[in-house]
Amino acid sequence: PQEVSTSVNLFHGMISREYADELLVAAEGAYLIRESQRQPGTHTLALRFGHQTLNYRLFYDGKHFVGEKRFESVHDLVTDALITLYIETKAAEYIAKMTTNPIYEHLGYTSLLKDKMVHRLSRGRTEPRRVTFQGDDRISSPLVRRSALKDTPEKQCSYEKIHNFKVHTFRGPHWCEYCANFMWGLIAQGVRCSDCGLNVHKQCSKLVPSDCQPDLRRIKKVFSCDLTTLVKAHNTTRPMVVDMCIREIELRGMKSEGLYRVSGFSEHIEDVRLAFDRDGEKADISASAYADINIIAGALKLYLRDLPIPIITFDLYSKFIQAAKIPNAESRLEAIHESVLQLPPAHYETLRYLMAHLKRVTQFEKDNLMNSENLGIVYGPTLMQPPEQNALTTLNDMRQQKLVIQLMIEHEDVLF
Ligand SMILES: [Zn+2]
Ligand SMILES: [Zn+2]
Repeated sequence: PQEVSTSVNLFHGMISREYADELLVAAEGAYLIRESQRQPGTHTLALRFGHQTLNYRLFYDGKHFVGEKRFESVHDLVTDALITLYIETKAAEYIAKMTTNPIYEHLGYTSLLKDKMVHRLSRGRTEPRRVTFQGDDRISSPLVRRSALKDTPEKQCSYEKIHNFKVHTFRGPHWCEYCANFMWGLIAQGVRCSDCGLNVHKQCSKLVPSDCQPDLRRIKKVFSCDLTTLVKAHNTTRPMVVDMCIREIELRGMKSEGLYRVSGFSEHIEDVRLAFDRDGEKADISASAYADINIIAGALKLYLRDLPIPIITFDLYSKFIQAAKIPNAESRLEAIHESVLQLPPAHYETLRYLMAHLKRVTQFEKDNLMNSENLGIVYGPTLMQPPEQNALTTLNDMRQQKLVIQLMIEHEDVLF
């Protein structure tokens, strides 16, 4: 009842801005709601702060809001606004300082990350492959780089990953893990990364480096999980689904007629997906569990097709399609190579591994009847999806999709 009577008293009808000002002038923090004279039917929150009356357009959609935070009651909204206004005016200097002088590096979070890096280094990791590519200027033509790369052993890559920040309401006091300052406000005090759990101010989130180290406990599924997120969570170079399926296929399926073209029984493919989601790298995909190799091949294609961002990313999709349209064979390959180098490292590494595998598949063509063109048809739409799906683009691009994959299989030794 208290709440109701307050809110009734709060509402002052269609009074002028000046009259609202007079009513509020006495008390700092006092507020009222009036109907706008200029736009009848809309409401304005008048709030006294810093010896002036501030006017905000007030919205309601089941909750009250003036900005992006939504509140159960206007009282909560005003409390939050007063805290924010106070911090922003009285502590402007403090806020400016907190983002220019972050304590992020000294926090356990980053040192934990460093420990992991050191651990990886001790297992023989040097520079990420991408750096080797871009930094080596002794090599003149981009298409003869393979020889230089052959000397470098298989490496554990440290991929960069951006944090996946979502607005979060903290219960109890929380401190920003970037600047170490208090996260003020009643609700939505900051943002939390849903992949690693890092908690920071919204304004600090823009300054946090791309060093998200996903926590396995937060990554619930294997299929349909972002590729970089998955490999970082499992600390692998490529998604383990890709490695495990390819290992199994190379073990017992290379001579299987119509490999990747013949589809396995879809219920069984679904079983494999569930096994990976449930058991991760412990999933049993051996011959005793799935005798038909087409089920494993189907699961691998399903995994690649279900990625939220395809192996050939949405951003680079049209670059690849345009490259395939170049009539001169050498320039076309150069253009594809250019595009390949722009892929995010984890995508690049997965594509490289897959293409080397498909190349080996074509070496058994006499038995499996699969050549690079057949595989291009099968893998085109699996690895390449236009950013905006519509029937017409899909149809128009099919030829180029096939060609891109076909050329990557045929020239995997110079492209990667
Ligand atoms: Zn994160
Ligand atoms: Zn902060």
